[in-house]
Amino acid sequence: MGGNKTLAAFIINTADKGFGIIKTEEKMGLHASCTSNFAMDDLFVPDNNLVGDVGQGFKMAMRTFNNSRIMLSASTIGMVRRAIVECITFSANRPVFGQRLWEKQNTQLELAKMEIARHMIECMVYDAAWKIDRGLDVRYEAAAVKYTTSEEAFKVVNAAVQLHGGAGYMKDSPIEMFFRDIRAWPIFEGTSLVQQLVTFSKFIPRF
Ligand SMILES: Cc1cc2nc3c(=O)[nH]c(=O)nc-3n(C[C@H](O)[C@H](O)[C@H](O)COP(=O)(O)OP(=O)(O)OC[C@H]3O[C@@H](n4cnc5c(N)ncnc54)[C@H](O)[C@@H]3O)c2cc1C
Repeated sequence: MGGNKTLAAFIINTADKGFGIIKTEEKMGLHASCTSNFAMDDLFVPDNNLVGDVGQGFKMAMRTFNNSRIMLSASTIGMVRRAIVECITFSANRPVFGQRLWEKQNTQLELAKMEIARHMIECMVYDAAWKIDRGLDVRYEAAAVKYTTSEEAFKVVNAAVQLHGGAGYMKDSPIEMFFRDIRAWPIFEGTSLVQQLVTFSKFIPRF
């Protein structure tokens, strides 16, 4: 009951007695990754399995977020790039009222917005990755980049579904899968709201 300063990180062997999977979740997307709830009941953890010191667990978890939030942000790049390619290919071939879809100005504006979002995502990811490589304090960057890339990638993929019309809603289209997958980004590793709160707490002291 001593709060964050009593927590410890440790490694467990999932084959050991006392460890159990309670439920493997059926998710909306990200089906290639398994997400489960687990329980530990009288599970013996030897001293050697302690990671760091007792009391350092929370700090270590928070430090891990600096890496993992930037890594997750980086993973939006591939999805956004592919969504844009799919939109270009689709709109270049889709006839609408005597023209191809991408000859319509609204399609061009939509593709431009997607491309600008891609550029923004990549710049923020590379900036954060450059700083973490140099051992700089990236708590602000990790939160800000996670927030921006999650929200922007979601907007791009959502717009890609719309641009594809009915085809974007069908399982044949990779866009349909991206739409289900990307919905997790503003949630896991801390919701977008949490990233905004962390961003606020890190930039306000600079004033
Ligand atoms: C696909 C997927 C995979 C996951 N994998 C893992 C994993 O491997 N390991 C792991 O530990 N977890 C994992 N999670 C859990 C994930 O990290 C949490 O779901 C996420 O951090 C949000 O926490 P929560 O679900 O408890 O939501 P809550 O914290 O209960 O949030 C619910 C709502 O309340 C809002 N909220 C939260 N705090 C405040 C506040 N202070 N003021 C106002 N509103 C607030 C949130 O923004 C959200 O809208 C996974 C989740 C998903 C969807």
